Amino acid sequence: MPEQTGLLQGKTALIFGVANDRSIAWGIAQAFHQHGAKIGLSYASPALERRVKPLAEQLGSAFVEECDVASDEHIQRVAEKAAQTYGEIDILVHSIGFADRNELTGPYYNTSRAGFHLAMDISVYSFTALAKAFQPFLRPGGALLTLTYYGSEKVSPNYNVMGVAKAALEASVRYLAYDFGSHGVRVNAISAGPIRTLASQGVSGFKTMYRRFAEIAPLHENISIEDVGGTAVYLCSNLAAKTTGQVVFVDSGYNILGIPEPVE
Ligand code: NAD
Repeated sequence: MPEQTGLLQGKTALIFGVANDRSIAWGIAQAFHQHGAKIGLSYASPALERRVKPLAEQLGSAFVEECDVASDEHIQRVAEKAAQTYGEIDILVHSIGFADRNELTGPYYNTSRAGFHLAMDISVYSFTALAKAFQPFLRPGGALLTLTYYGSEKVSPNYNVMGVAKAALEASVRYLAYDFGSHGVRVNAISAGPIRTLASQGVSGFKTMYRRFAEIAPLHENISIEDVGGTAVYLCSNLAAKTTGQVVFVDSGYNILGIPEPVE
């Protein structure tokens, strides 16, 4: 591991959403660790425990807790356990999203009522629910962070209900930033370009889109979980002390384009 530069020295961070070593949450956890943060991890279901525990060990983290964010009891339990373990928390990262695979292909108008509710519950409401549960334990100067995608602003074929969910998530970031401002806690989102992870594999046509992305984006490079980790460190550190309610793009500049140049 590179030498610690300590932008997050003395801070405690809880990171939700590590499924494996390709998860964006894992890129963030590693970057936080390199910058001196104490890390706790949370994963969705018992099946993931055997993957997440060894990753936590790499960071010297003993706090590894299951939390299905569909359950208020799980969320409350993990918040109380974190408070018992650490006292106050400085940083909370929400790197969680879910929609049924059937909803991520074909026309958006085919979205089912149940599929819409599920995507909204897991991908949007859970950030607000975590913010509420952790609110009593957040230290002033702290930061909340979530992950979003440009499909919230512009149509990204097949992204469908997840695009609508990300739009709602970004609106939640602004409302939460307003609420938490008076506690001295900042709330931001990173809008990442496409990265090959478990979640992105569920979106129909992702592979082709991923390939074309680097050809089109101004920097002509795909995004890595390390790239997202670096921006997450900045946003959750004191360097970003006056930045809240923002969506920060880590996308090789893709979002500035109007009409992409045709690829020869
Ligand atoms: P991932 O599959 O590694 O992470 C998604 C996580 O959500 C997993 O850890 C999964 O266990 C968790 N999750 C799903 N349902 C849950 C539940 N009920 N309770 C608790 N956790 C649950 O994929 P990722 O790409 O790292 O996704 C992380 C975030 O980044 C998501 O919000 C995703 O939308 C966003 N994002 C991803 C990309 C990309 O291209 N991969 C781009 C922009 C934004």
